[in-house]
Amino acid sequence: MSKIKVTIWNEFVHEQEQNSLGDTVRQFYPNGIHNYLKEALQADDLEIRAVSLDMPEQGLPDELINDTDVLLWWGHCAHARVEDALVEKLARRVHEGMGLIVLHSGHYSKIFKRLMGTTCSLHWREVGEKERLWKVARRHPISEGVPETFTLPHTEMYGEGFDIPDDGKIIFMSWYEGGNVFRSGVTFLRGNGKIFYFAPGHETYPIYHDANVQKVISNAIRWAAPEFYRDPNFVEQIPVPPETVYTDNPLANLDTSALHKTM
Ligand code: ZN
Repeated sequence: MSKIKVTIWNEFVHEQEQNSLGDTVRQFYPNGIHNYLKEALQADDLEIRAVSLDMPEQGLPDELINDTDVLLWWGHCAHARVEDALVEKLARRVHEGMGLIVLHSGHYSKIFKRLMGTTCSLHWREVGEKERLWKVARRHPISEGVPETFTLPHTEMYGEGFDIPDDGKIIFMSWYEGGNVFRSGVTFLRGNGKIFYFAPGHETYPIYHDANVQKVISNAIRWAAPEFYRDPNFVEQIPVPPETVYTDNPLANLDTSALHKTM
């Protein structure tokens, strides 16, 4: 069985900040969120690479993009630094079939906004409140083996309204101690690619250390892995119609330019 090729991309900025925020984040992710997740998610059926914005070609040279079945994206303060040309390449790769898992503040990444076509704005608050997640899609592969409900003791609140398109399938809903609710796990299909947005993952709490959070991401990787790739711009002419076309229809012989003039 061939392995699913997973690439975890992280902007890797907060982890390197020389201030109290950086100190806090490094307590939980000394080598960066990407390298932590690479270790936490390792499995026999996955080949995982961890890359970051500070690497050549922003961590994603063409050879790696074209060798990635599922891309995980963690970004927060450096969304604007991601080159538009790279975003277009990633969007094309998703349309071809690559899976994309957008984590936490990646809701505001260029690639997510590009694929959603909306602002992806939301309400937020950072007071370290409790979050309770509920499994809405109980028989979906992403929620398999995850408890019907589980809590994270301290999170950043992400609340509705969340400006994402209406075709998102809700897998998880979150309730926060302060009263807000949020579609915290949502799937989309774009071209041949599957996309999953998963909200938990604020950098100053050990959220990716949580076994349920890891289980969700792990399930999402298998769900998003493509069965095939296809040129998203492929169009096929169908000269022979599957049903008989009756050419005695007077409209069939009508000069359409004349029709347009009379309208
Ligand atoms: Zn955050």
